[in-house]
Amino acid sequence: MTTVHTSVVVPCFNESEVIEAFHKELVGALEPTGTAFEICYVDDGSSDRTRAHLGQLAAADPRVRYTSFSRNFGKESAMLAGLRMSAGDVVVLMDADLQHPPHLVPRMLELHRHGYDQVVAQRDRTGEGAVRTALSQAYYRLVRRFMDVEVIDGAGDFRLLSRRAVNALLALPESNRFSKGLFSWIGFDTVTFTYTNVQRAAGSSKWGGRRLLNYGIDGLLSFNSRPLRMAIHTGLWLFLSALAYALWIIANVVLDGVETPGYATLITAIVGLGGIQLATLGVIGEYVGRIYHEAKRRPHYVIRETDETATATPQELVREAVSSK
Ligand code: UDP
Ligand code: MG
Repeated sequence: MTTVHTSVVVPCFNESEVIEAFHKELVGALEPTGTAFEICYVDDGSSDRTRAHLGQLAAADPRVRYTSFSRNFGKESAMLAGLRMSAGDVVVLMDADLQHPPHLVPRMLELHRHGYDQVVAQRDRTGEGAVRTALSQAYYRLVRRFMDVEVIDGAGDFRLLSRRAVNALLALPESNRFSKGLFSWIGFDTVTFTYTNVQRAAGSSKWGGRRLLNYGIDGLLSFNSRPLRMAIHTGLWLFLSALAYALWIIANVVLDGVETPGYATLITAIVGLGGIQLATLGVIGEYVGRIYHEAKRRPHYVIRETDETATATPQELVREAVSSK
């Protein structure tokens, strides 16, 4: 086997509509660079014909490899599988929906030659809904304040990593993976350039509002215990103010005798404190949940087949092989 210089890792979930067009464009962008490349597709348990398409691509081109999951495990797991599969000195992570333009890859390789371990292509927010833009920006502001690692708005998973950066990522054992944070955590020299946002070529986005919200919460919690610390601070301040208030009431009773009790004040205090307590419990619960999750040490994904083990050959594959003889 020839040594591979560039590995391109592509997580795919129900991308049968675009995968062929994507593949053609990617190969078209890579070939002129003269680099020895491989493309590692990861089928994240697609329910459409994505797996069959990947099987065909792999059968037709030895530079194509793929791994297919037994069910949908999420993009983070798919990226991890792709990184583990990759053999190149340089790994490029990109989406299959042509939102990460393949023609930018040669530029990333060029920047890597200048000595950068991470080359990040950052998209602007052209053509995105105003609400989503506003919400994402607010989220990134929040993350910048509360997270120990730096996460940049629009700098997603379209990036090039050197082999040592990939090895550093693979050495991180956590099962709750938040790549945006991990990329920043490993460090190394990083360079960022901006490109104009493009809309998905076909198919639909897998990130609805709820999934995005959960992803956001994961991001906030997976990097530090600052939310816990915040809960403790809030609790402490509330306790101090409650103490001051109690002292004030006692002083009043001592000086003026018993008054009509402040029913409204009491209810407000109970409800307010109850709310804070619930929120704090929720935060603690999240961390405990995470510990439980990590303690199980489950694998990140289950593999159904790879290009090497594809014995359960899909019908189309057989037909393809026969017709190409
Ligand atoms: N993806 C995946 N598993 C999932 C969801 C998405 O592998 O559970 C892949 C998807 O096929 C695509 C990339 O991750 O290649 C980005 O997904 P999508 O385009 O839906 O996200 P968006 O661009 O809307 O943020
Ligand atoms: Mg997309």
